[in-house]
This record gives sequence, C-alpha cells and structure tokens, in this order.
Amino acid sequence: MNTIKRIDPRRPFVITAAGLKRITLGEAGSADGSLDASAAAASLHGRAAAKPRRTVEPAQRTILVAAHSDRGALDEHARETVAAAALMADAKTQVALMVFGELKEDAAALGADKVIELAAFDRRAFAPESEVQALAACAAQFAPVHILLPDNAAGDGDLGRRYAAQAGASVAAHVVEIDAAHVSVYVHAKKAVAKRTVPEVVLLAPGAVDSRLPFVGAGEAMQMGSFDTAASAAARYRDLGIEETDASQVALEEADFIVSAGNGVTDIAAFEALAGVLGAAIGASRVAVDNGHFTRDKQVGATGKTVQASVYIAFGISGAVQHLQGIKDCRHVIAVNLDASAPIAKRADLTIVGDTRETIASLTEAIARARAAHGEASRAAGAPTVVEGVAA
Ligand SMILES: Cc1cc2nc3c(=O)[nH]c(=O)nc-3n(C[C@H](O)[C@H](O)[C@H](O)COP(=O)(O)OP(=O)(O)OC[C@H]3O[C@@H](n4cnc5c(N)ncnc54)[C@H](O)[C@@H]3O)c2cc1C
Repeated sequence: MNTIKRIDPRRPFVITAAGLKRITLGEAGSADGSLDASAAAASLHGRAAAKPRRTVEPAQRTILVAAHSDRGALDEHARETVAAAALMADAKTQVALMVFGELKEDAAALGADKVIELAAFDRRAFAPESEVQALAACAAQFAPVHILLPDNAAGDGDLGRRYAAQAGASVAAHVVEIDAAHVSVYVHAKKAVAKRTVPEVVLLAPGAVDSRLPFVGAGEAMQMGSFDTAASAAARYRDLGIEETDASQVALEEADFIVSAGNGVTDIAAFEALAGVLGAAIGASRVAVDNGHFTRDKQVGATGKTVQASVYIAFGISGAVQHLQGIKDCRHVIAVNLDASAPIAKRADLTIVGDTRETIASLTEAIARARAAHGEASRAAGAPTVVEGVAA
C-alpha cells in the first residue's frame, strides 16, 4: 500500500466543507472561512472544539461507511471517507459508520450519526467472507443509498469489491472526487477524469476529502448481531498472519511510530537504543543530520521526508517551520524539550518539559520494567504503563 502523500499537479484540489479547495503546500485550515480559524486549529491538533450537530432532523436515508480500525482508531484515509459521507449527506440523511475492530474514538467527531462497532474483527486477520456477511447484514438493516469505503490495500478496498460483486451493486473504485451528485475517477493514464452519478458502492482514494469537519454527528452507538469471524476460514485458504518488520527497515514515510532527534539530543546511542526498544523508526531534524549524527535519509521536514506516523516523538527539536512541514500529517505529536515555549510545543499534543537524556533514560527503564511485569503477569496486557520520573 502506497500511503506517501504527494501533491499531484493534475489534482491540486481537495473536497472540504466549503466545496473544492486548492491545495497549497503547508497550508492549514479551510479557505473561505467556512471553518473558523480557531476550530480549524483545534481540530488540526485533535483538541475538542464545540461544533454544531450537522443535522437534528429525523433520518429518512442512510449513507453507510465501512472501515477497519487499527488499535481502536481509524486512520486518516478512513476518516476522510466518513467525512465524505457527512459532506454528501443532506439534513434528512444519516451517516452510519460500521467499524471492523474496536473503536475508541469519538464517532460523533468523525461525522458519524450511528456507529456499529464489530470488535470481534481485527484487520490483522483475514476474514473476507465473514466481513462481507457482516456488511451485507448491515446494508440489509439500513438499506443505504450509498456505501463508502476507503480504497486501501488493508482490507477495506477488498471488502468493498467483494460486497459489490456479491450484491450485484454498481461500484466506482479509486474515486478522487465526490459530492452528493457525482464521483470522478482518472482514466487514460490520468490524462482525463471520468464522471458519473454516485454509485451504490464508492471506494474512495486517499487525500480526496478534508477530514476536518465544521460539525459533528450524533455518534449514537448501535448493536448488531454477532458474526462468526472464523466463518471464512474454510479449507480454501489459510491465513498465515502478518509478518512483523523491523521498524528500522521501514521507510520513514511509511512508519507508524517515529522517534526523532534534534540538536537537543546529545546521547545518540541511548536515543537509538530507545527507538529499538520501542520498535519505532528513527527520524531527525536537519541540524542533527548536518551534525553528522544521522544520514540524510532520516531528515524530516521541508527538505527531508514528509511523514504521517500515528505517533511522532520529537526529542530536543525546536519545531522550526521547515520541520513542522514534514510532520503536519502526524496524528499524535509528543515533544520533549527543556523549553516549554519552543514552537514544537504548539504543534504537540503533549509536551514533556525536561532534558532529553533524562527522559530517554526514564523511558527506556520504564519500558524494561513494564516488559518484565508483563512477562510475569501477562494478564496485565493492555493496562496503561505509568512512566515515572518524567515531568509532563
Ligand atoms: C531552506 C531550509 C530548509 C530547511 N529544511 C529543514 C528540514 O527539512 N528539516 C528540519 O528539521 N530543518 C530544516 N531546516 C532547518 C530549520 O530551520 C531548523 O534550523 C532546524 O529544524 C532546527 O533543528 P533543531 O530543532 O534540531 O535544532 P535547534 O533549533 O538548535 O533546537 C534544539 C531544541 O532542543 C532543545 N534542547 C536543547 N537541549 C536540550 C536538552 N538537553 N533536552 C531537551 N531539549 C533540549 C532546545 O530548547 C531547542 O528547542 C531548513 C532550513 C532552511 C533555511
């Protein structure tokens, strides 16, 4: 799956609450002021801002969105797909979100009015037939006007195609533009765009929709019957599971967890050891690279890599605008810095005001302790780890 975000010169737009918007590198927030600046800033950094409900009218129609979660969260592509449904929906249309796996996030903030969490499913397990069965059951319950899925290689794209084939539904894949009236896809090697009315099943390409919404959904949880997640483990194929890759082998652009070092990191060996213990990929600021501590391919920022990790820990990085440009798509940013007023603190969801050397040592020790405790009492798995000796 290629998740690297690039500006496509042939498609310099994205669908937002205000309609089509031109993309400018590094720009944040909506054009045209449809999203007020503080709400945009708050949503950018995941902070809650009071937003109105999209609609309070009784629902007469449904747009169904189905997506797999990963460790209780939807990735950006799935969020964009929910946002697409919410932007397409009129006042009498509800957005129902069906999640394969656990969902610990606020579904209302994602734009969903109903949420069906199928916690028994796991994106790491291959269960296509039971997933299609679950999606068909949900579709039978809601009779949705459209079903939207992220067109990814992590299960959703496959599920949408299987469902459409089984249901004999009309389908559009790799959809790069969508509104209530039409969808567009590239044709002729991206030299042209083909449009049609919105089909029953829409498989949305990444980056087509701005997931930051100026409103919230109702976010009501719904129960569905249980599904036999092993139903598909028929004799026809065998799930060999997922092979773990060493984080250091993962390209920075694809890494989900990155620890990054700046000029404030002096003990490089301890930093690298922490990355190994955490199973995180290593990034660096330009100064740390210029100092010869890391190779150029580790540089994150305007003249380095643009990364989109779920967690990015910036050790001793000031947060210069060129560096921030490289981490604008990261979900959670944690900063470790002696200076609470460093620019990185404005971008960070959590700032640890402290020395990098001490914090790295405390973290490494706390992880070792947690691992030992986990080994002794594996039933404690999943319990939160308290990191001591770190001032938050
Ligand atoms: C054209 C151009 C392109 C650029 N491209 C990039 C790019 O792609 N990527 C990039 O990163 N930069 C880039 N830069 C450089 C950028 O402007 C900054 O100079 C650079 O990001 C600063 O790196 P830094 O934060 O590691 O270092 P510094 O600015 O020196 O900041 C170090 C930080 O560490 C903190 N600190 C110091 N000691 C400790 C300690 N013991 N414990 C905890 N915290 C500590 C300090 O408070 C400070 O905030 C570019 C610049 C230009 C002009």
